[in-house]
Amino acid sequence: MSAPTADSVRSEVRAWLADNWDETLSVSEWWSRLALSGYAAPTFAVEDFGKGYHRGLANIVSEELANAGAIGPPAGLGYLLTAPTIVSHGTREQKDDWLLRILDGRDAWCQLFSEPGAGSDLAGMQCKATKDGDEWIIEGQKVWTSTAQLTNLGMLIARTDPDAPKHAGITYFRFEMDQPGVTIRPLREMTGRALFNEVFIDGARVRDADILGGLNNGWAVANTTLAAERAGLGSGGSGAAGGAFPGPIAGNLDTPVTNHIGNRRGGGSGGGGGKGGLAGQLIGIAKEKEKNADPVLRQGLAQLWILQQIGRYTSLRMRGRGVSIGLPNVAKLMMSDMLRLHRDVATSIMGPDMMLYGDDAPTDGVVQEQVIFSPGPAIYGGTDQVQRNIIGERALGLPKEPDPFKGKPFKETPKNA
Ligand SMILES: Cc1cc2nc3c(=O)[nH]c(=O)nc-3n(C[C@H](O)[C@H](O)[C@H](O)COP(=O)(O)OP(=O)(O)OC[C@H]3O[C@@H](n4cnc5c(N)ncnc54)[C@H](O)[C@@H]3O)c2cc1C
Repeated sequence: MSAPTADSVRSEVRAWLADNWDETLSVSEWWSRLALSGYAAPTFAVEDFGKGYHRGLANIVSEELANAGAIGPPAGLGYLLTAPTIVSHGTREQKDDWLLRILDGRDAWCQLFSEPGAGSDLAGMQCKATKDGDEWIIEGQKVWTSTAQLTNLGMLIARTDPDAPKHAGITYFRFEMDQPGVTIRPLREMTGRALFNEVFIDGARVRDADILGGLNNGWAVANTTLAAERAGLGSGGSGAAGGAFPGPIAGNLDTPVTNHIGNRRGGGSGGGGGKGGLAGQLIGIAKEKEKNADPVLRQGLAQLWILQQIGRYTSLRMRGRGVSIGLPNVAKLMMSDMLRLHRDVATSIMGPDMMLYGDDAPTDGVVQEQVIFSPGPAIYGGTDQVQRNIIGERALGLPKEPDPFKGKPFKETPKNA
């Protein structure tokens, strides 16, 4: 069989959409078709419910979904972070069950990584898992857990061997959120939403079968999740014609797909600006407001467009090469720059409308929320400073910060220092 080309992929996706996109479907029926076709995650291998495409071809799939007015694959961290982590570290059984349930939207996952004393210093986390037969008892606290209140599962990292050095002795678990011993407390952000949460875990349980990537190998698995997070940023959004949040709690699965067309938020905060990305969105608003002839605004819009294109090319450079250090960190830094520029240009274009907020405000409040949310991406997935440290130490090979406790058992190292 000949290798797929841009033209062949475009015509195959168009033909598939003509047969399968149907506005009378429910969200779960549509996502099931999309997942089984391989178009939900086209960069994954065929045996992992994908198409084996590089990112350039996958972008064509997104474009065609948008052109057909179809909603994209499930929003949220399960699709963005857990799915690629399962592809890299999961057993065949885990892929057939956990991965498919993410791609067809039956499950929604949150990321139970950060703790009050472990954000940038993530390997300093203290949440512990104690063996009890073929189960583990979990105790600890997580924080900044985005969408914990909307998800049925979590990517949990917990310490399984305190005698091992800091980065060893950590295990990555699939964690059921709805069980005794789990308390979720929302934290209100300056957007007015309570997207993220504190999660208190006191005697909750996971099974041996919930381990992803092997006992005490959680640091490597967590780094795959973080690389996916960083690589996913900076590419300017999927461009789909709408989105919805998956899983049994959000309540979208049985609703008609038509309810979600045009929904740029997709259950998260902000959004990628849809077709044309953030620059395309602002160019449209500038035209509506007849500000598109202003030379200073035009310069800002051109800069934003250029940054978005560079982000797209950076994302294409990562295609299919399994790059986990360097480019994803650069992509994440670029995303921070792009969102800061978007904040400034959007504020200039919107003028006094920027002070109006909420669903009944101009732009349905979407641009205002993106602007208020703009500091967030420079922090999550590792702050800008942490990305620079990683680029310096691990991509460029510069000397590391001295660590007098390197190799010592975790239980003997200072905590929250
Ligand atoms: C919107 C949002 C959503 C989030 N969602 C999630 C989620 O779903 N799940 C999750 O687990 N976490 C989530 N986080 C948490 C995020 O990963 C952490 O906030 C981040 O890793 C920083 O950790 P910290 O807040 O503890 O800050 P700290 O680590 O205390 O950092 C404070 C400051 O010190 C700087 N700093 C720290 N160490 C160094 C160093 N070695 N060199 C140079 N500078 C340094 C940092 O850059 C920062 O400016 C989210 C955060 C935000 C803002």
